[in-house]
Amino acid sequence: MFLVAIYETHCHTPLCKHAVGEPEEYVEAAQLAGLDGIIFTCHNPMPDGFDAQVRMAPDEFDTYLRIIDRAGRRWSGTMDVRLGLECDYFPGYEHWLENQVRAADFHYLLGSVHPHQKGFRERYWTGDPVLYQREYFKLLAQAAETGFFDCLSHPDIIKNETPNDWQPDALMEPICAALDRIAKCRTAMELNTSGLNKTIPEMNPGPLILREMYRRSIPVVIGADAHKPERVGKFFNQALDVLETCGYQHVNFFLERKRHQVPISEMRSSLRTI
Ligand SMILES: [Zn+2]
Ligand SMILES: [Zn+2]
Repeated sequence: MFLVAIYETHCHTPLCKHAVGEPEEYVEAAQLAGLDGIIFTCHNPMPDGFDAQVRMAPDEFDTYLRIIDRAGRRWSGTMDVRLGLECDYFPGYEHWLENQVRAADFHYLLGSVHPHQKGFRERYWTGDPVLYQREYFKLLAQAAETGFFDCLSHPDIIKNETPNDWQPDALMEPICAALDRIAKCRTAMELNTSGLNKTIPEMNPGPLILREMYRRSIPVVIGADAHKPERVGKFFNQALDVLETCGYQHVNFFLERKRHQVPISEMRSSLRTI
């Protein structure tokens, strides 16, 4: 039995200081795109001023809960609005994350390794772009192994940090080693359509990695990572094309932290072209 529903699974709120639009506007955009619901996954609060300029402060967490709840009530009966969170995975903060993932009734938790953030560069950049890329994939596997997350976001976003040195075919050995570890954890991975707007204009991850994910039966969740309402549901049709090319016949989404599968054919017939 499939629950045929389409969700935007990755979007933000102005609390992260680099997104615009109130949650209600994102929900409206999701409805216009022909989706059934939307899961908000704004950037998690972190302690010690960790990358504080691009996330909600710890004392804004209650506001986050309140504005998502407000949007849910406003659209009640029409659109399904759910609470999620995009959590930064950074070694040393496991204890913080362990408490955070229990801090609310989340429907969906994304684990992200963000190599563009300052602390990450300070800790891992050695001047060698390929080593930096290898380290990224190791950390992605480590994020899955914490068991905190349902899905790993934009899982090759490192390519935009080192675009001139990005040669995925030459990096498949460490990438596949990471995918083996992730598959063992049964953590899903995202196909993030916002990659099309980045330096390397390709979704995250690209087809080479997606094919290896398929070979390991790693479930995929599509998300647009919308930082403004008009990006909600963006390029979902293209994402389905890419997935099918790589062998996939289903996409996934999470509600109440449980994974649901939708056949791509069913999803296609419900989506409006945007
Ligand atoms: Zn992210
Ligand atoms: Zn995001």
